Amino acid sequence: MRIYGDYHTHTYFSDGKRSVGENLKAASEKGLNAVAISDHGFNNPSAFSLTRKKAAEQARIIAEERLKYGEMRVLHAVEADIIGTDGEIDMNEDDFASFDFVLFGFHRFARPARAADFFKMYVPAYFSGIFKPSESVIKRNTRAFCKAIEKYPVSVVAHINDMVVTDAGEVARAAADNGVYMEINIKHLGVMRRVIDKALATDVKFLANTDAHTPAEVGDFSALEDFVKEYPELLPRISNAFPDEIKFRKR
Ligand SMILES: [Zn+2]
Ligand SMILES: [Zn+2]
Repeated sequence: MRIYGDYHTHTYFSDGKRSVGENLKAASEKGLNAVAISDHGFNNPSAFSLTRKKAAEQARIIAEERLKYGEMRVLHAVEADIIGTDGEIDMNEDDFASFDFVLFGFHRFARPARAADFFKMYVPAYFSGIFKPSESVIKRNTRAFCKAIEKYPVSVVAHINDMVVTDAGEVARAAADNGVYMEINIKHLGVMRRVIDKALATDVKFLANTDAHTPAEVGDFSALEDFVKEYPELLPRISNAFPDEIKFRKR
């Protein structure tokens, strides 16, 4: 198994440990043909996430670093947050132009869109490890994810069903219909195992990512080896298991 690009890595612009340059160097040394810097989005506490100002500074650094790597594709992404039951994510219309593509997922410290969303989406998420969310909560979460996919030019659903439980088959269907990738996040394979059959039953395309927070983790897909053996039909549907350039959706 070879994965050619890593489209989800963090730096010290959010909660990653090292610099943009160090992540890119690691990606190049691992022989990747593409890598994305994708720090946490705007509604997280600013000490651990991008602000719009930090994103602009990061864009300048990436533009400069990119020149060192002729062959390797270097992308500037953001890991945005779903923050509301109406599918809101923490991106303004104008923000999308600042990034090559956008991943989105649930993160428990991101400020919710409304107080009601805290109770309807965040609280059940906090307890989802202990209490299975009710059918109505799952339905509401599913609708939120599908709406986000339909409403925004997002490109990747990050670590589906991490804390916020959805009907992942339905989310995968919405993703497939809109040209959005479903992430196989190697840090969340346990959750993925619970929903992979449902996702595979749709036409969704997958993108395998490390969610690296250190340069050593960038491009290290060894944890995925056993997983793809368990699901033989999966590997042919992981788009970055092929050397072709990944095409992200544009508005
Ligand atoms: Zn995440
Ligand atoms: Zn991440």
